[in-house]
Amino acid sequence: MIHLEEAIRRILEQIPCLGLERLSFQQAQGRVLGEDIPAPRNIPPWDNSAMDGYAVRWRDIRAASPEKPVVLKVLADLPAGRTFKGRLGPGEALRIMTGAPLPRSVDTVVQVESTERSGANVKIFAGPGKGKNIRLAGEDVKTGDLVLAKGTVLQPAHIGMLASFQRSVVYVYQQPRVAILATGDELLEIDEPLKEGKIVNSNSYTITAQVAACGGLPIQLGIAKDRMEDLLSKIQQGLVADLLVTSGGVSVGDYDLVKEMLKKLGKINFWKVAMRPGQPLAFGLISEKPLFGLPGNPVSSMVSFEQFVRPAILKMSGHQNLFRPTLKACLREEIEKKAGLVHFIRCRLSREGEKIYASTTGEQGSGILSSMVKAQGLIVLPRDLTRARAGEEVQTILLDPMFFHSPLPSYLSLPGGRQKKS
Ligand code: AMP
Ligand code: MG
Repeated sequence: MIHLEEAIRRILEQIPCLGLERLSFQQAQGRVLGEDIPAPRNIPPWDNSAMDGYAVRWRDIRAASPEKPVVLKVLADLPAGRTFKGRLGPGEALRIMTGAPLPRSVDTVVQVESTERSGANVKIFAGPGKGKNIRLAGEDVKTGDLVLAKGTVLQPAHIGMLASFQRSVVYVYQQPRVAILATGDELLEIDEPLKEGKIVNSNSYTITAQVAACGGLPIQLGIAKDRMEDLLSKIQQGLVADLLVTSGGVSVGDYDLVKEMLKKLGKINFWKVAMRPGQPLAFGLISEKPLFGLPGNPVSSMVSFEQFVRPAILKMSGHQNLFRPTLKACLREEIEKKAGLVHFIRCRLSREGEKIYASTTGEQGSGILSSMVKAQGLIVLPRDLTRARAGEEVQTILLDPMFFHSPLPSYLSLPGGRQKKS
């Protein structure tokens, strides 16, 4: 049996980062960028107006005031998308809209609110500072700026920047293909009629969803009987994938064949980790492909996936940050355990002001899948701890990505600001 940290270290050491693939930028959301993308040009490409108003030569309007407005002749209208090739002479202006490129001879834009148009002329009532209301070329990004760096996890703003760069195709890290095999003579497929002594294979589907949720591409291999030939042939089919995951058949029962299979086809690195749930766990390589033999109990399978397979999939996909966020939470109840194993306790989380509270989901048996249905997090109780008291702070892995969402954020909950007490 090895410690959790050692197991994770040994796994990540064996996990390669996959190669790159070319992808339309529109499909690249959530993927990890595989190249540095410097700005190919200035954005905006030219100085342009930040306001609707009048483009002027500052020296013509510097003295303008409400009492003594300056009158200028309007040479042309310049909507966004149009350019003006001429030059402004003394006493001349252009009507200009937000985003329209600024002609060279112009150095200032007067906002429309400080003007009054009459026919071919405009009255300027206030002279803004020189250079006001202008967006300068390159004020967003300058040619060569490393705006999108290799390793970036692409989000909507990055996709928008790629569009501005006219980069329709990008290199991203490949998504790992993950072969998933359930094992066990007791398992029924979900569309088979129920029979005495048989249970429905749920693990394949949980694992499929877990793989997809962290960006892998699941490949279902179905169910292998607890017979070596069946296990060997199904696993060999799975070698088309980048990573293999099995469930069940990994402890010390007479029909637990996954370790034997791993030894026959490849090399076992370890089995058994000092944790609960999920103590039996086989890890090794078959033809360079990592194989995770997860335990069969639905909760153990899920928790072991969280601990070991998810970080591996993220690493393969080019991610740097492989682990979920953890929170310090205040325990609502006392929990006792034996020393020797790290415990992962399924919990509900709640917020009171800045403080987060954790309460267990109750029965922690490794077959109680409904406890995972309820769980928003996993309390982590260290190996040597034997008791955590109510009110104590504990480390908690946040599983529920929606936990910090709210029906109404506090900045919206004070309409009209703070009410005066009467
Ligand atoms: P095993 O690790 O093969 O001894 O399996 C332990 C227990 O996990 C079994 O008795 C089943 O109740 C359960 N189990 C195993 N495989 C699955 C599966 N694919 N789906 C749901 N439960 C399973
Ligand atoms: Mg079994």
